[in-house]
Amino acid sequence: EANAGLIADLIRDVPDFPKPGIMFKDITPLLARPSGLAAAVTELVAASPRDVDLVVGMEARGFIFAAPIALALGAGFVPVRKPGKLPGATVSETFALEYGTETLTVHSDAIPAGARVLVVDDVLATGGTVAATAALLKQLDAELVQVSVLLELTALDGRAKLAEHGIERVSSVL
Ligand code: 5GP
Repeated sequence: EANAGLIADLIRDVPDFPKPGIMFKDITPLLARPSGLAAAVTELVAASPRDVDLVVGMEARGFIFAAPIALALGAGFVPVRKPGKLPGATVSETFALEYGTETLTVHSDAIPAGARVLVVDDVLATGGTVAATAALLKQLDAELVQVSVLLELTALDGRAKLAEHGIERVSSVL
């Protein structure tokens, strides 16, 4: 498919970032090309359900795609952020990384109970970030309708981790 090929061509492999042995998928060339950015948003919207109330994006690259998808779907946008960034009352989830832990937060009043939520990020790797976001949504009694990502690193089997958390609807463009 033309869009998928364009998107794939504009994602750059950067070896040994952020640590030795990691091959980082750099989306900044894609973002900088007008046709690439448009193709990415178009394909993410096409892969997403229409009937959502809110689109949640995770700091920081999730924001880039979640906001235009929310606009296209007629939904609102809610940021999930690292600790200490959101000014209001928050709920938080801490999850394990390869080394150490990471915490994500969201405003407690941003997502009403029962809201239908689409979760968007640039890359699905181990699934830890999405799993923590799903746990935040559970704390607020919201409904995670689908996860949409641009790129899935299938070798890391993030989908299996998400399935363990009951998240089966995961859509990736690449
Ligand atoms: P996970 O929690 O699934 O292991 O990692 C996914 C999170 O880390 C996403 O928020 C994503 O932005 C970031 N991430 C992990 N690996 C990569 C990568 O190779 N490229 C980019 N752009 N982001 C990555």
